[in-house]
Formats: sequence, structure tokens, C-alpha cells
Amino acid sequence: ASFDSIYAAFLDRVEHHPDKPAVELPHGGYITYHDVLTDAQRIAHLLTQAGVKPGDRVVCQVKKSVRAVAAYLAVLQIGGIYVPLNTAYTGVELQYFLDDAEPAAVVVDPADTAGVRDMIPSAAIFTLDGVGNGTLSACETKLTAHVAVTAADPAAILYTSGTTGRSKGAVLTHGNLASNCQALLEAWEFTGDDRLIHALPIFHIHGLFVAINMSLTAGATMLWMNELDVDGIIDRFANATVLMGVPTFYTRLLASNRLTPKAVANMRLFVSGSAPLLSADFEAFYERTGHHILERYGMTETGINTTNPCRGERRPGSVGQPLRGIEVAVVDATTGEPLSDGQVGSIEVRGPNVFDRYWRNPEKTREEKRDNGFFITGDQGFYDTEGYLHISGRSKDMIISGGYNVYPKEVEQLLDEHPLIAESAVIGVPDADLGEGVLAVVVARNGQAPDATELTGMLSDQLARYKQPRAYRVVEQLPRNVMGKVQKAQLREQFAEVFAL
Ligand code: ATP
Ligand code: MG
Repeated sequence: ASFDSIYAAFLDRVEHHPDKPAVELPHGGYITYHDVLTDAQRIAHLLTQAGVKPGDRVVCQVKKSVRAVAAYLAVLQIGGIYVPLNTAYTGVELQYFLDDAEPAAVVVDPADTAGVRDMIPSAAIFTLDGVGNGTLSACETKLTAHVAVTAADPAAILYTSGTTGRSKGAVLTHGNLASNCQALLEAWEFTGDDRLIHALPIFHIHGLFVAINMSLTAGATMLWMNELDVDGIIDRFANATVLMGVPTFYTRLLASNRLTPKAVANMRLFVSGSAPLLSADFEAFYERTGHHILERYGMTETGINTTNPCRGERRPGSVGQPLRGIEVAVVDATTGEPLSDGQVGSIEVRGPNVFDRYWRNPEKTREEKRDNGFFITGDQGFYDTEGYLHISGRSKDMIISGGYNVYPKEVEQLLDEHPLIAESAVIGVPDADLGEGVLAVVVARNGQAPDATELTGMLSDQLARYKQPRAYRVVEQLPRNVMGKVQKAQLREQFAEVFAL
């Protein structure tokens, strides 16, 4: 079925099977498609009564819950712009996002109402359990008309993860969400028969616009988990078909001896994204379960761009091929000219999935969207001869040492092959001679990391000299955010003095 909006496709599924579980809850029980719609209608009614109009922003900063999903649908229903915020934001950080989004209404957890009211006195404040100035449980189930939208109308403002600087608000349209959702349903052969383990946060593109949109528009069932709980995930395998996770899920699943072929016998697909999957985990997962993890590549501004195939070969270290209808080019960053296979360049994307603009930031929009419609992702990579894309790292993480470009991923992959290294992050830090010197930060696999001489020996016949780390530092673990992204800016700060100027 083809559809123009997520909400319309969801409604269609409700009509088709109102009593089917949309979500199975962590401790038993379930919520049907009809129940989700009822909650969404109630919330839509409350928002409308509070004066929220089409085009108004509604900020949602709440703990993960099915009602938060209903709130999202409610905002779509009334033609509002949904703005989910990471629950970790507080104080000045939160104030920044509220000032930036200028919402007409804010949905928060009960403990946060007073604080948020002070931060944005002009907005109506709601909670999802009947506290605050809107009382959900007391509200009549009243059908609120579904506001008609066009593909070009904004559906959401999603803030980027802030890995490379201040988070930017990406304005995503109904067309963006609907087209990417359909491309993914097709690519991953996702249907109403699927049962998806949902253990991701719901303020980020991955848990929200990939997982929830796909499940609710396909008419599938989500097995809901409020946090990452390895045993809980393994328990659900017997009753599930698909897991969408970030790489750290897989690292942690592999640490459990309960991960066996028998445990995953019912599963058909394991997806990874949001950060690079370790090749060692890809291999180990295959050995342990007989499944090749399907890695895909996306971002807040575009949703998913490329994916390894559902049926064809899944390549370790690669994020696969462009989804149908999406152009993913590797070009010379300055000229915009396409590069040939194997050459590392700027990854740029054009298609119906590409966001409209950065919210209130026309300069940034001009900087990152070319006149020909291509969006400059900020990532670098190359195509192999089979047309599979490989990510070499972020442009901002590329190291320029003595005038030569060093792509961190190339060095990290070699280091990660060493049996004593669990993982590594290669960064550039200030160096008097070279401008930037290559530094490798490594995590030991069994407490004991190899020494620098040994590593230098290992790399010397595989890497040009300028790419080889000048020094190594061992850490307990790499700093990561909740989506499993390594915070390289933090490492650069921590180790800024290693090659003291
Ligand atoms: P900011 O844009 O604020 O610096 P961010 O780019 O981390 O933050 P997101 O939109 O959450 O914010 O993340 C998208 C980025 O995640 C991509 O640009 C890419 O660098 C990385 N990424 C996503 N999937 C993969 C993958 N499979 N392999 C490698 N990197 C990935
Ligand atoms: Mg980004």
C-alpha cells in the first residue's frame, strides 16, 4: 500500500484491525491499535482546546511510554509540528531548545511541569497521566478531525545528536517521513506479520521515525522495552521477528552466553545503525547465531539513506546501497564532482527523504544544501566496486597531519583486528610539526592492551607512515552518547596535550 502521511497509514491499519496489539508491554498486557488511536484522539482534543493550531510546535520531553507515541500521533493529527526532546536535557540546555522551538504546548513528565512552566510561560503545559493544566484521563474521547496535510508541510522538528557541535533542528515534512518509511518497509520486507523489539529511545530518528513509523504503518506489533536490558531482549527473541538496535546492543548481546542459535530461531532480521558496527561484532554475531547483522546508514536530516540488502550479500564494514528513490553520491568536497570507486570523498544525498531546512538557521541550511538539491551529510566515505558504501568517518573528524588526509576508520579497523584490542578511536590532536598528530585511543579486550611498539610493528606494513598513530592511550571505555556514538570531541579535549606544542 502506498501512503502520503504516516497518520493516514496508521488510521488505515486501525480500521483494518482495531483489536490487534500495536504494542506489547514489558510486564505483560498489550495496547491495541484502537487504544493507541483513542489516546491520540484524546490528546489531540486537549491540544486543540488549548489553542494549538496547524503549524504550531508541540514539544514532547517525556520518559519512554506508549502514551508518548500517542502524543506524537496526536500532533500529526492536528497538523502540528512534533518536537521530541532528549530527556537528558535540563536547565540552560532545555531552555535553549524551548526558546528555539517556541512551542505552543509542552508535554512533560509530572515532576517537570513547574520548571518548564517557568521556562516558557506562554506555552500550555501537559502531562500524559492527568496532572498539570490539561487532564488527560478526565478528557472525553472525542473525535477530532484529522487535519489534511500536504507532503511539503512540516511534520516534525528533530534536533540532531550534537556530536559535532550544537544540535540543529531539522524540519522534516510529512513527505519526508512517509517516503522514507515506505522505502524501508520495502527494503526490509517489513509487514504486519512482523514483531519488532523496540528497545530504543523515542526522541531520536532511529526509535521514532524508523521503528515506530514502520511498525504502525505496516500494522505490526512492537514488543516494548523501556530501557536496554540484554536479558529482556533475549527473552523476547522467541516471540519476535526483528530487532532494530545500535551497535552497542550487539556488543552487549555478544557478552551474554544466552545468545545461541536456538534463542534466535524465530528471528528473521537484526538491524544496526546510528553509529558504526564493529566488524568483529558482525563476524562474532554470525558465528554465534547464523545471522548477518544488517547495517544501514542514516541521520536526523534524511532518515535512512543506504542499507545492506535483506536478501543479498551483507558486507561487513559497509552500510550497503542507496534505498530506492534516493541518490547517495561520493563527491569532491570543494568541486562537488563525483569520485570514482575506492576514492574517499564527501557523502551527499538527494531525494524525497531529505529534510526541508534547519529550523531558524538559513545560513546553516545554505551551507549544507547545495543548489542542485544535494545535502552535504558531513560524513566521508567511498563506494567499493560492488556499489556498497563504506563510511570513513565524519569530515570534522578527518585528520590532516603534515598536509596529508588521514581517515580515522581506516586505522581503527586495523587496530580493532588485534586480539588484545576491543575497540579504538583514532583522533587528531595539536602537534607542533604536523599541525595535527595521529593519536589512537584504545580499549583493551582483556585488561591488557598491546604495547605501542607492537602496534607500530603491526601497522607498519599495512599503512603509510603518515597514517600510523604517533602515540597510543589506553582507556577503560570510549565515551558514548545514548545512541552509542563515540564522542570524539571529548577525546580530543581530554588528550589535547599529548603532543604538547
Ligand atoms: P550532529 O549532526 O549534531 O553533529 P549527529 O550527526 O551525531 O550529530 P544524528 O543525526 O543522530 O546526529 O547522527 C547521524 C550520524 O550518525 C551520521 O551522519 C553518521 O555520522 C552516523 N551514522 C549513522 N549510521 C551510521 C553507520 N551505520 N555507520 C557509521 N556512522 C553512522
Ligand atoms: Mg549530523
